[in-house]
Amino acid sequence: MTTLRSSSRDLWRAVLGELELQLPRPTFETWLKNTEGVSHDERQFVVAVPTAFAVEWLERRMYQAIHKAVEKVAQRPLDVQFRVDIDPSDDGEPAASPELSSVLEPGPATDTDLAQRQRQRLTRPLFNSRYTFDNFVVGECNQLAYSAAQAVAEAPGEAYNPLFLYSGVGLGKTHLLHAIGHICASRGQSVLYVTSEQFTNHFISAIRNRTTEDFRSHYRGVQVLLMDDVQFLSGKEQTHEGFFHTFNDLHTSGRQVVITSDRPPSALTLLQDRMRSRFEWGLIADIEPPGLETRMAILASKAALLKISIGDDIIELIAKRVQKNVRELEGSLNRIVAYLQLMNVDITYESTSRILDAVGSDSDRHNIEPESIIEKVASHYKFDTDVLTGRRRTKKIALARQVAMYLLIYELEMSPTQVGRMLGGRDHATVIHGAGKINGEISEDRQLRQDVLAIKEAIFS
Ligand code: ADP
Ligand code: MG
Repeated sequence: MTTLRSSSRDLWRAVLGELELQLPRPTFETWLKNTEGVSHDERQFVVAVPTAFAVEWLERRMYQAIHKAVEKVAQRPLDVQFRVDIDPSDDGEPAASPELSSVLEPGPATDTDLAQRQRQRLTRPLFNSRYTFDNFVVGECNQLAYSAAQAVAEAPGEAYNPLFLYSGVGLGKTHLLHAIGHICASRGQSVLYVTSEQFTNHFISAIRNRTTEDFRSHYRGVQVLLMDDVQFLSGKEQTHEGFFHTFNDLHTSGRQVVITSDRPPSALTLLQDRMRSRFEWGLIADIEPPGLETRMAILASKAALLKISIGDDIIELIAKRVQKNVRELEGSLNRIVAYLQLMNVDITYESTSRILDAVGSDSDRHNIEPESIIEKVASHYKFDTDVLTGRRRTKKIALARQVAMYLLIYELEMSPTQVGRMLGGRDHATVIHGAGKINGEISEDRQLRQDVLAIKEAIFS
């Protein structure tokens, strides 16, 4: 175990070294510094992250860069999973803390309680620990998919085979796949979770390296195959052929196959007819977007997982405002909590409402033009916009410029180079420094916090 632990840790250290060179300093410091490589096998690399909010950030905004760095360091295809490392038994202390990790180093482990916690951590399966049946809120919208997934988890290969789940994004397909995975793995069955992109890559490299036999036996050996997002299976006929055979091998030998997609089999036009009709042999279940009541139940459950108490009126307020999907609902809750903690205010109806206005939803975010951010910053500090893009440099102008850099990077996810270009051709190091300075000072400097919040309110309202 120690070996697994320390080699994962070393691998992740090397990845962090790579990333540190590529990413803006503030981004690195904020989101990656307190992470730790926990375990890996031939398919997945698991990284412990201190908060759910950080998991969301890393998954959504940095996955590509991290994934690339992991594969580069490991020199093989590996999926990356982030896991919140808040363990009820460990007072929310992240695994990354050196005191905890050192327990595993050779030498006397005096605190057996800590050692035990470490062991539990190591033996946790590779599925996302938050994605369990218990954490899945059931409503009319997902009842069928949930029950079918449970039936499959109870008796793989017997109930519905294949099980085909489809829905729009962020409605719980991946969650249910992992939930099935947890149960089967805990029973000692071999479970393989792959995205169709991983499957495609794996297949293509097997052909390239002439290891298709290994490929086949790798897949043929599993009792449960969980294939996520089949709509992304490559359009190449050969890959489809590969999947067709894998599917048949498993299915005819009574192994369970669960497939998810963003549309029903009949609408998967890229798939060959014979594949499509095979998907229809089992059960097809869709998940609808949740109604208000289910959205409220989901928020209440997520708040409980975050260990925050939050009134029903506030839950209703958020659920009414955020409607698109569960991922966005969860994202809004995380942002509200993070924001209020940062600003040091209590969660009240008014503060939440203000934050919802100020932070906006993801879809609002995509409609914001960078020019309007520069404009709002300028008008907050009572300058013309060309002062911000110009060369003058008083203390106040420099501050306003840095606030603009900060908002463009953190709110619009622009690259430092793009931001530098927008702000009068400044180089990317200047932008990284400026945005980082604001990011570092915002939690200490009350005036700065209020300024940034006021500007955000202006931008997002
Ligand atoms: P999909 O794979 O359909 O895009 P995910 O499974 O990734 O969606 O779900 C997005 C987020 O929403 C995850 O964090 C998941 O835990 C959460 N989620 C989705 N549906 C539910 C539900 N019914 N109850 C609790 N959480 C849910
Ligand atoms: Mg998914």
